[in-house]
Amino acid sequence: MTGPHVRDVVIVGGGVVGVTLARQLARYHLDVLLLERDAEVGFGVSKANSGIIHSGMHADPDTLKGQLEWPGNVGWLELRDDLGFGFAQVGELLVALSEEEFPTLDALEAQGERKGVPGMTRWDQATIRAHQPNLSREVLAAVWAPTAGVINPYEAVLLIAESAAHNGVEVATDEPLTAIDPPADDPGAPLVLHTPQRRIATRFVVNAAGLFADEVARMAGVGTFTITGRKGEEYLLDRRLAGLVTSIIFPCPTATSKGTLITPTFDGTIMVGPTAEATDDKLDTATTPDGAAQVFAAARRLVPTIDERDVIAEFAGVRAVADTEDFVLGPTARRGFVNAAGIQSPGLTAAPAIADHLVAALASEGLELRERDDFVPEVEHPVRFSVLPDEEQAELAARDPRFARLVCRCELVTEAEITDAIDRGARTLDGLKFRTRAGMGRCQGGFCTWHCLELLAERRGCALTDLTKRGGDSWLIRDRDDAPPTPVEVGERR
Ligand SMILES: Cc1cc2nc3c(=O)[nH]c(=O)nc-3n(C[C@H](O)[C@H](O)[C@H](O)COP(=O)(O)OP(=O)(O)OC[C@H]3O[C@@H](n4cnc5c(N)ncnc54)[C@H](O)[C@@H]3O)c2cc1C
Repeated sequence: MTGPHVRDVVIVGGGVVGVTLARQLARYHLDVLLLERDAEVGFGVSKANSGIIHSGMHADPDTLKGQLEWPGNVGWLELRDDLGFGFAQVGELLVALSEEEFPTLDALEAQGERKGVPGMTRWDQATIRAHQPNLSREVLAAVWAPTAGVINPYEAVLLIAESAAHNGVEVATDEPLTAIDPPADDPGAPLVLHTPQRRIATRFVVNAAGLFADEVARMAGVGTFTITGRKGEEYLLDRRLAGLVTSIIFPCPTATSKGTLITPTFDGTIMVGPTAEATDDKLDTATTPDGAAQVFAAARRLVPTIDERDVIAEFAGVRAVADTEDFVLGPTARRGFVNAAGIQSPGLTAAPAIADHLVAALASEGLELRERDDFVPEVEHPVRFSVLPDEEQAELAARDPRFARLVCRCELVTEAEITDAIDRGARTLDGLKFRTRAGMGRCQGGFCTWHCLELLAERRGCALTDLTKRGGDSWLIRDRDDAPPTPVEVGERR
């Protein structure tokens, strides 16, 4: 009789860290399963951040955050070339508003140099003005770092997960890890995990469970750290302000945050934020009047014309802060159980380097890495109709009438793009939005939500009342006799 099927690695958590690790492990002859408790990957903090791939100068080189920030930045270029998600190296300006802040510019520039970040230069007022005429006259000096970039984080996570799945990783959504059996008497025995759906035996577990990584570590009997939440509110401004700044503008940092930034997003809007407030509720993603007031007061110090009336969407994300204030990475006292926890900022930036770090840690714990020769780095990139030249748009529409039917008028998203996203795995309204941008424009889904839901229901063969905004109980349609279905919950606006 054969024994139970034993996996090589189970990754708990499908955020940017979990999916990037999954794709790296897919390069080897390994049996890998990724467990994500949400309806789709990337619905944790990986979709609710500033979307910046940091230049590499910000985090202290004596911490793991600092050591993995710059190599992570470099790793994103390779991922972008393979997968084609939105990522542009627009550069950053770290600005000083007073002479007292000059030593901070010196310190961060020296930090970047120590890490090997190329191209940093010091700009005087005239140079700053020539490049960013809308910045406040109070900006006295700046460090220019061309290596910083802006990314569509949700699009990146979805395509990385898709690539991992194409290369053999099993990506299981709506499947939370709920328990881990205590160690068996035989030290070589596999770890045994439980989800509501099944029992899983595995040689290694990687805990990439974000805000809940401390709970998962406790399940394994190695709860040596706690994770607290630090909330950040972000505000997106109308696309008509595109060009207000053309690089990411950073103030000098505070003890707990990089301060309020002004970011030209990859898709042409301007984002201002985030705040940094401790919160006991790890799921608290509400924006607040206080947060908005803080963000806009700070933003106006950098660009005086910024105005709350231009806000088209707002959201908050919660940073997963470990008590060490650093990443918690690597093996633990429980054989086979490896942490990827406490991944606060610059976790998005560092993710590719975190994945490499974890692969090395797993190898040092005995995971055999035999490279496959059939790993396919690319995935077919979804069509983005709105950015194509007129002739290509006309050609597509002539070939497939679904390209002639606009679903989202603000972001010019066609029916063909929506159905392709559903076929690629979108199961929720947010999943569609993050894949296609339908609902992200000025009207925030006022016009297209209903059509998106109809296409989702039709393509998935389910009832409208089965559909949710982001999984769980975020239902959108109430089942009422005789009355036409009505969207009853819009929830967070992005
Ligand atoms: C406001 C804000 C702005 C930020 N801006 C930036 C930035 O510009 N640049 C940057 O580099 N970093 C930034 N960050 C940090 C960055 O977003 C995070 O470091 C990164 O997204 C963390 O990824 P993760 O995979 O560890 O976590 P997550 O994305 O939260 O993923 C963890 C996943 O684990 C799942 N999970 C939890 N428990 C279980 C379980 N029991 N079973 C199965 N699955 C489970 C969750 O559902 C979740 O999907 C920002 C953070 C915030 C809050």
